[in-house]
Amino acid sequence: MTNTSSHVELVTVPCLRDNYAFLVHNHTTGDTALIDAPEASPIAVELARRNWRLTDILLTHHHDDHVGGLAALRGDARVIGAKADAHRLPPLDLAVAEGDLLQICGQTTHVIDVPGHTVGHIAFHMPDAGFAFTGDSLMALGCGRLFEGTPAQMWESLQKLRALPGETQICSGHEYTESNARFAVSLDPDNPDLTLRMKAIETARAAGQPTVPSGLEDERRTNPFLRADDAGLKAHLGLQNLPDDEVFAQIRASKDKF
Ligand code: ZN
Ligand code: FE
Repeated sequence: MTNTSSHVELVTVPCLRDNYAFLVHNHTTGDTALIDAPEASPIAVELARRNWRLTDILLTHHHDDHVGGLAALRGDARVIGAKADAHRLPPLDLAVAEGDLLQICGQTTHVIDVPGHTVGHIAFHMPDAGFAFTGDSLMALGCGRLFEGTPAQMWESLQKLRALPGETQICSGHEYTESNARFAVSLDPDNPDLTLRMKAIETARAAGQPTVPSGLEDERRTNPFLRADDAGLKAHLGLQNLPDDEVFAQIRASKDKF
């Protein structure tokens, strides 16, 4: 569950029933960032085990399974979240919006507005490390449910994330990959990349291993929510005459019923 990138280490922390939080640590400066705070205890255990202290906490959106552990963890860490949702997030030390650049653990970090699951949902991209923290927007073989935004908004959000470098690790908020994979295969049974990925996911889950983070290049080839503009998939679904955002809307609606 540990990946070392150029200057920082990434730790994936399972929380609650199927959530993930992430720790990013710079071994030179000692800075440690937490992305999302589903619950305090598993995160506190990982910090204590490594003797790390939180300097920053980044929040992707206001849902309780992403902020519920914050109060117990924040200490004197700087808490960063979306300006648009400051009224319903825990108290923020820094309120940010699309295009803002942050320095987190020595990494230049871009704020990307990704509404859809909620209207104030943001993602954080660390291009030098190759990490994108996407919360409940882009997920492994899936995307978040549309609680507040429109399908067109989520489709636009996903296209921004899809445009990041292919080697980006997508650090998303939940382990929903196995059920996402069953849905993806039902839409796209002849996609050989998806068939292979499905096998790898089943093997990982049978061994109790996380399938998150996932590689963006894999998502581009296999995640049906990133492929609403793929001519082959549109034709297979009989939707070749619909605009991409409406194809996306139909794929999202079928997943809700799957
Ligand atoms: Zn959520
Ligand atoms: Fe969530």
